[in-house]
Amino acid sequence: MKENTLVLAGGGHTHALLLKALQKHPLPCRLILLSSTRYTPYSGMLPGVIAGVYQPEEAHIDLKVLAESSGSEFIEDEITGLAADSNELTTLNGQTLKYDALSINTGSTQSRVVDGPDCISIKPVKRFLPWLSEEFQERLNQFEQQSKVFNLVIVGGGAAGVEVAMALRERFRYSTALTVHIITSNGVVPGHSPAVRQLITNELVQKGIKVHASFQVATVLDHCISSLSGQHLPYDQVILATPACPAPWPAHSGLSTDRTGFIRVNPFLQSCSHDNVFASGDIAAFTEAALAKCGVYAVRQAPVLHQNLKAWLTGQPLQPYQPQQQFLSLLSCADGRAIASRGAFRAKGGLVWLWKNWIDKRFMAQFPLPLPGSMGSSAAS
Ligand SMILES: Cc1cc2nc3c(=O)[nH]c(=O)nc-3n(C[C@H](O)[C@H](O)[C@H](O)COP(=O)(O)OP(=O)(O)OC[C@H]3O[C@@H](n4cnc5c(N)ncnc54)[C@H](O)[C@@H]3O)c2cc1C
Repeated sequence: MKENTLVLAGGGHTHALLLKALQKHPLPCRLILLSSTRYTPYSGMLPGVIAGVYQPEEAHIDLKVLAESSGSEFIEDEITGLAADSNELTTLNGQTLKYDALSINTGSTQSRVVDGPDCISIKPVKRFLPWLSEEFQERLNQFEQQSKVFNLVIVGGGAAGVEVAMALRERFRYSTALTVHIITSNGVVPGHSPAVRQLITNELVQKGIKVHASFQVATVLDHCISSLSGQHLPYDQVILATPACPAPWPAHSGLSTDRTGFIRVNPFLQSCSHDNVFASGDIAAFTEAALAKCGVYAVRQAPVLHQNLKAWLTGQPLQPYQPQQQFLSLLSCADGRAIASRGAFRAKGGLVWLWKNWIDKRFMAQFPLPLPGSMGSSAAS
């Protein structure tokens, strides 16, 4: 009998954990991991890398080593197209890949509510980190030498936006040129308790980060962002930390997607239109409940995905994924302190940072990491 080919598209948090589990419990198929990057970032430590607390190698998983130690072939290439009716993927390097089953965990990027010159999104991280340590650093130095103010505007006041703002402020703490702004249409960290929102607002004020709440972007012209209510904010650089948005190819794949283009999945993490396709993490639109686009869900989906891929390949019944109602968020202040938030619970300080650091390092200790120096230096200089 012909062996099934299972392609794992993207090496996000779910697939990294799946590959780890496959070392002990392999699947009865030929396995290929197709990822646009060999080194995939762990989002929990990303603000720490930006701040210069961690080397990039400490916060990335070496997918090639992981895949090969899990009995999987590794292909470094970017998916640019999917024809779900003919079970075919196409890539940037012109490859066509046939599959019997497909699992998609390609994450998301930031929606481009602001577009124009000097505007970059945090994802893909493999572009953002080198840009930060080279191009951005150089421009900031020029402003410094000319004693000019450098207005850095972060668009988005969610957890990613505020963590990145604090991390950048910390990384460039000796810069006299840099002013960091956050623009947001509904305040910072919506979805967290009022007490946590206040804690974070106070923290941002103390760090000199200017928060423009209720700023709904209307136009961007000549390095100036204007709001619907007529405010104008000149900028030298914009960083997008806006809500997650999908790559364009799933919407043209024949798979059922939601209005934004995320892949609709049933409770078994299986495509609502094609039963040999599974999706997890940010790229999946879970139809049973609206889930935030955050790594916690991607991580928790891994054991269910493992079980269901095995069940699909062997003709067994699938098991549903049950998302948790609440989860703990640990937000780094980038200065040796962090803020914990879960429902009404909150805490702040050095101990919370030690707790976060312990959780993140323990998570990464499961995986092979890039060799020191193999990713270039993105740490603070
Ligand atoms: C600054 C920042 C901080 C964050 N902090 C946290 C946090 O502390 N806790 C938390 O829960 N969430 C956090 N998040 C959210 C978190 O990053 C995402 O929810 C999480 O990464 C989603 O994981 P994923 O498994 O779906 O995919 P990802 O981790 O995004 O990985 C996707 C992978 O697929 C690859 N890929 C993408 N496109 C293609 C393609 N076309 N072809 C092949 N490969 C592809 C990518 O290179 C990447 O390796 C943060 C986000 C940001 C921006």
